Order: sequence, then structure tokens, then C-alpha cells
Amino acid sequence: MLNIVIFGAPGSGKGTQSELIIKEYGLDHISTGDVLRAEIKGKTELGKIASGYIEKGQLVPDDLIIDMLAKVLDSKENSKGVIFDGFPRTIAQAKALKKMLNDRNTDVSVMLNLQVNEEELIKRLLERGKVSGRSDDNLETIKSRLDVYHKQTAPLADYYIGEKKHVEIKGIGSIEEIFRRIKEAIKNI
Ligand code: AMP
Repeated sequence: MLNIVIFGAPGSGKGTQSELIIKEYGLDHISTGDVLRAEIKGKTELGKIASGYIEKGQLVPDDLIIDMLAKVLDSKENSKGVIFDGFPRTIAQAKALKKMLNDRNTDVSVMLNLQVNEEELIKRLLERGKVSGRSDDNLETIKSRLDVYHKQTAPLADYYIGEKKHVEIKGIGSIEEIFRRIKEAIKNI
């Protein structure tokens, strides 16, 4: 199985590049942000809890996210591989993912870390906010999401360096250029 963790700050292009990767390699896509937004739309118990965190730009608690991820993963049986988009975001989630995949006789193949500077991230997220209708694409929430990213999520790079799975991808340039860099990285796994 080809299991890819696509990683980077909010606005680094994880969703955009995931779509291209899925088409090229026939992978399943799990975006925890998309799953949570569907839960909110469906007015489920989880959705009600998650919306408060999302609106403040904070992370939804690990236990809720890990349970949710396990259920989605079980629905992807006979998969060629999965692209994990927006998960893991904490060390506890990364360890839980490793265990879940090991229990299914597989593992993370690579972690692609999209590198984009802060100024560009804010510009992209504000642009997206004009059309996304997302409750968290406004300047105040963007700032707290970036802060949470630096404090809680960025340290995961070291975790995946330790696992020998970490590959840095320059996330600036055209969508096609960035995708070419990703394909090169996948070829070298
Ligand atoms: P995203 O669509 O990946 O930008 O996620 C939007 C929001 O959903 C985040 O700011 C968090 O509040 C929540 N979220 C998504 N994925 C996770 C995760 N793996 N752990 C905790 N919270 C998450």
C-alpha cells in the first residue's frame, strides 16, 4: 500500500495536491477537516462538539479525532493506499496512526512536508475565504490556526524525520510544478 501523509501549514496546498495525487495513483483520500465539516453539516454530536474548536482555530481533541479516523479507515477496505490530509496534527495522532496502520499490516510510506512562507499562507487563506464559505477562513481565526500549527503540529516533522519518512517539498510555484516535485519524491520512496 502507498500511504501518504500530506503535511504543511493551513494554506500550504494539501487539499489541492491531494486531488492530483489521488488521480495519479488511485489512492483513497481522508481529510479530517472535510469529515468534520460533514459532521457539522449533518448536525451530529461530534459535529456539535467540533464546530466550537474549528471556529476558534483550535484542534479538536485527539481522542475524538483518532476514533473518527479509525472508523473512516475501516470503511476503506481493499484500498491501494490512503492519502492522509490534515491528519496527524499532533504527536499522539501520529503514534495512533502508526498503530492503526501496523494493525492492518501496513505503515506510512512517506510524509510530504509542503513548505510555504507565512505571508503567502495568509494571502492564500484570505483569497480562499472569499469563496470557501468556511467559518475559519477569516484573519483572526487564520492567525490562531497558524499559531496552533507552529506550536502543536510543526513538531511532527521531527517525529517523521525519526521514522525516516520525512520529505520536504517546496510549496511555492505553480500547482503543476509543485505536483512534479511530489511525483519525484514518491518515485524515490
Ligand atoms: P483543515 O480542513 O484540515 O484545515 O481543518 C480545519 C479544522 O478542523 C482545524 O483547524 C481543526 O480545528 C479541525 N481539524 C482538522 N483535522 C484535525 C486533526 N487531525 N486534529 C484536530 N483537529 C483537526
